[in-house]
Amino acid sequence: MDCIFCQIASGKIPGEILYQDEELVAFPDKFPQAPVHILIIPKKHIASLAELSQAETPIIGRMADVANQMARKKGVFGRGYRLVINCGKEGGQIVPHLHMHLLGGKQLPGKLA
Ligand code: AMP
Ligand code: ZN
Repeated sequence: MDCIFCQIASGKIPGEILYQDEELVAFPDKFPQAPVHILIIPKKHIASLAELSQAETPIIGRMADVANQMARKKGVFGRGYRLVINCGKEGGQIVPHLHMHLLGGKQLPGKLA
């Protein structure tokens, strides 16, 4: 499997792991766009939100819960933060493994598009 996020999740690429459990991993974004920029991913390779089966949708709630935990850990929980899932080409998804961005630590731009 040459998926970069699968390699990070399995420990094949060394890097800082901020959280992991049987299902999810969280790690810092390599090119942060805010003082806090963390990626939360499923260990299972799911190519995008569009590839998520109906049975798998609870994982999105679990990812949001881990994002809340990371926001607390990084001290932005009370300040506000943003969760983003880019999906597909026009959605701006570059890495084809489902991931949620946690962004915070500064006033984020108001416009989404
Ligand atoms: P997206 O555009 O939603 O697919 O976002 C992919 C994100 O992955 C970008 O914010 C990249 O900076 C980040 N990224 C790419 N390669 C790595 C890596 N090896 N480790 C951590 N983050 C990465
Ligand atoms: Zn993968």
